Amino acid sequence: MKKSAYFDNGATTAVAKEVLDEMLPFFSEHYGNPSSIHSMGDIAAKVMSASRKKVSNALKCRPSEIIFTSGGTESDNLALIGTVLRSGKKKVITSAVEHSAILEVCAYLKRIGYDIVILPVDKEGKVSTDSLAKVIDKDTALVSVMTANNVIGTIQPIAELSDVTHKHNALFHTDAVQAFTKVDIDVARDGIDLLSISGHKIHGPKGVGALYVRNGIKIDPMILGGGQENGLRSSTENVPCIVGLGKAAELAMSTMNDDVKRMQRMRDEIIDSTLRIKGTYLNGPADGRLCNNAHFGFDGVKGMDLILSLNKMGIMASTASACTAGSADPSHVMTAIGRSAEEALSSLRISLSRYNTQEDVDLLRESLPKALRTVRGR
Ligand SMILES: *Cc1c(COP(=O)(O)O)cnc(C)c1O
Repeated sequence: MKKSAYFDNGATTAVAKEVLDEMLPFFSEHYGNPSSIHSMGDIAAKVMSASRKKVSNALKCRPSEIIFTSGGTESDNLALIGTVLRSGKKKVITSAVEHSAILEVCAYLKRIGYDIVILPVDKEGKVSTDSLAKVIDKDTALVSVMTANNVIGTIQPIAELSDVTHKHNALFHTDAVQAFTKVDIDVARDGIDLLSISGHKIHGPKGVGALYVRNGIKIDPMILGGGQENGLRSSTENVPCIVGLGKAAELAMSTMNDDVKRMQRMRDEIIDSTLRIKGTYLNGPADGRLCNNAHFGFDGVKGMDLILSLNKMGIMASTASACTAGSADPSHVMTAIGRSAEEALSSLRISLSRYNTQEDVDLLRESLPKALRTVRGR
């Protein structure tokens, strides 16, 4: 049997071999600056536009609607700050289960005088259109609700939420960092004005992402300088990583249907077998959750101890999310779905990728009961 298995793909994923191969020549062979007019610059400019096309194909939008950024965090910051500050309106609405890249931006906007409304979620982590309809008004600049949650995998009713948003002439942004290549996304069909993605969650490199901005939407840059990315994101473009993001998106989309089905099967096997262990419950929805996410609570267990015990058996997983893994505070997502602090701290997140195998699942099924006995002291 296999000796180790990686189940922390919600935190980051392996760069696909095909992606790395495509990136490598752009470090020291074709290293030109896309703004240079000589042939080396031309190669870089051409490959950037090819990558932009691949990302836009994956989101079903136009290449001119894609801004390359340094990652999901920057995309989220740009989406909110770039639109809200120039909107002339005062209200921003988001949800209680957003990533810190949204919640911290909202906290900043609040400090500088904006009115921030945080929508509650139900016990499965879902935002309701009714709760949005109650608080949205003509002074609302933007609504931001993630496509799928990074901790408990809840998929949100994005099309319905954007519908309510547009009835009040506000913009709709979604953080699709976890959902991209796992959930069917169509920005026009779903009424999305702005959407964030990240390379390293889809088997691309770290430090690159993109923001989709629907044509005609007015947005200000946060990073000023040489005017790259249509003036919206200055700094010499990270050509190798942008190549990697495009390839990662293209590759994931080409096998998405089969990958999603396989991950769903593994996820369901993990959920079924884990829930057979006494004192175990599922966090997040039974239906309508990300194909690669399973999230559990265990009575009387400290999640941190469980992670360390599993790690000794070669299983790499996390409690809530990588960004909160270093802290002993309960995840805000767990609190938002009504879990107590103790319940919140007893959690285990299993996040799959298309590279996980049945052998990995078997290793987890064998190790988890043992790890639980160890941490429960029996
Ligand atoms: C990982 C993640 C981010 C941050 O993306 P980076 O590329 O690491 O900055 C934002 N939102 C969600 C939902 C994420 O899972």
